[in-house]
Amino acid sequence: MLTFEETGLKPEILRAIAEIGFEAPTAIQEKTIPHLLNTKQDLIALAQTGSGKTAAFGLPVINQIDSDSKKTQALILCPTRELAIQIANDFDAFTKYTTKLDVVPVYGGASIETQIKQLNRGAQIVVGTPGRVVDLIKRKKLKLEDIEWVVLDEADEMLNMGFKDDLDFILSHTPDERQTLLFSATMSKEVLRISNNYMNDPEEISSGKKNQGADKVEHFYYVVNGKNKYLALKRIADMNPNIYAIIFCRTRRETQEISDQLVSDGYNADCLHGDLSQAQRDAVMGRYRKRHLQMLVATDVAARGLDVNDITHVINYNIPDELETYTHRSGRTGRAGRAGISIAIIGPRDTNKIKQLEKVLGKSFTKSEIPSGEDVTKIQLEAYINKVKSTEIDTQQLAKYLPSISEQLDDLDREALIMKFVSMEFNKILSYYKNSDDINASAKAGRDDSGRGRKDGDFKKLFLNIGEKDHLTSGTLLGFMNNLPEMSKGVIFGKIDVQRSFSFLEVEAKHEQTVLDALNGSNFDGRTVSAEPKAGGGPRSGGGSRKRKSDSGKSPRRSGGIKGGGSRTGGRSRVKAKSGRRRS
Ligand code: AMP
Repeated sequence: MLTFEETGLKPEILRAIAEIGFEAPTAIQEKTIPHLLNTKQDLIALAQTGSGKTAAFGLPVINQIDSDSKKTQALILCPTRELAIQIANDFDAFTKYTTKLDVVPVYGGASIETQIKQLNRGAQIVVGTPGRVVDLIKRKKLKLEDIEWVVLDEADEMLNMGFKDDLDFILSHTPDERQTLLFSATMSKEVLRISNNYMNDPEEISSGKKNQGADKVEHFYYVVNGKNKYLALKRIADMNPNIYAIIFCRTRRETQEISDQLVSDGYNADCLHGDLSQAQRDAVMGRYRKRHLQMLVATDVAARGLDVNDITHVINYNIPDELETYTHRSGRTGRAGRAGISIAIIGPRDTNKIKQLEKVLGKSFTKSEIPSGEDVTKIQLEAYINKVKSTEIDTQQLAKYLPSISEQLDDLDREALIMKFVSMEFNKILSYYKNSDDINASAKAGRDDSGRGRKDGDFKKLFLNIGEKDHLTSGTLLGFMNNLPEMSKGVIFGKIDVQRSFSFLEVEAKHEQTVLDALNGSNFDGRTVSAEPKAGGGPRSGGGSRKRKSDSGKSPRRSGGIKGGGSRTGGRSRVKAKSGRRRS
């Protein structure tokens, strides 16, 4: 295996990467670095995020930049602002000991004037998103006549995002003698077209080890009826107390709803989707990166360019329409040679899609069973006990209080004491998972969650005077109701239908009056709530069955240091906070 020293990189670069902690080149680096240092031949590399691709093109390009000249010599194009910033940051780290070398990121959503000023000062390397780069070329602020290297990073993503014309425009403005490097996770027709049109006899790197990271990803799938998807997600989270996950949803609305439900159930979660402003997205990503969030619910588009290591689980709340998207999603975990888990929660009729995915990825998927409530409880208890055992004790500080504590606990023997401490933390989770159902569905059933099998008359439909315009989602509504003091435990809700200015809520018939009493006169985000039985809204047909007592209400999240019942992030104030966030 090649060492970094043997590749011929300059000592100042070797010193910088040694400081970052790179010991040996990754598979992709082992191929690209010598190629780029020794030839001018174009290069196509199949590589995903996590494979070390930034250094794969960054190190050899930096190595060859003439830092005595202020002219822009390398242009790196990538699909998102986040990725542009990430690449520029990585380059800054690689050039820590390289003098007179400037890297400038340019991207939309930020002041173009500031970026122009930075370019005017001279930037040998520019990293940018296609739209902003086009803008700067048209304004004649970014000059490409001295470009020697063009890197198309995540080329497939750039094309998926509709940057085809921008790429054509940019590439046609660069000198013919440039060396073009194309990095892509997949080789689509469009990527081939770009390579045919703009690359000169490129060498293709497509060895079996094209993605070191993804090789360490294990794929699992769970089959549940649609109505149980969210419960399945919670059980997956609960059986992995140290989960650090990204959950992919199809739509912005679903993303927001799942995130709201998780938050109201007490999980450390938030969401990323296109309805958020850039500042909101930055804040969410910052919290996720710092691990203040354990679960990030995101759409594919919003998660593009999100560069986070150590993600333990990628959870596909649905299988994406484009199977290639699955490759991108699962590439978020198992990065830099670490192990990772990719999970698909699918409906009984989706098993054929798993077969297609196995073909696309060339990997086998393992069918798993959603664990029983008892199993989840056991795992949670074990994690809690381990946490107790590893808690450090400040003996000196505690010593002075110990005698009075001992005296207070005097009448409890060891067993009673253990039970008290555990119950304090676990009563909610114990009752939540008590009598919980097996939610695994038979793959052969070929039936989804249409609610067939539910007894008419179980549920009553209520009309509420609050809706989307009050920043209500089904998740916030559930959280809101669970926090109403008058709401008795064990109320089972059915389908929630949030419309623009009102909503419908199904509730178990026997609890109809309790819910009406709790809701009427309550205050949601400054509005007085009025609820009444829906006119003509007798027994409903269709919709999700909510026969179980457990699992359908508020989940008492224990793991990850969150107090049972989710008081830290859930609750009414959070409902308001989230609503406010979306408004701005
Ligand atoms: P990338 O695929 O460029 O997004 O890199 C994924 C992660 O791998 C980043 O955190 C890099 O810092 C890290 N990385 C890249 N090259 C190496 C290497 N040779 N050894 C260890 N980590 C690396």
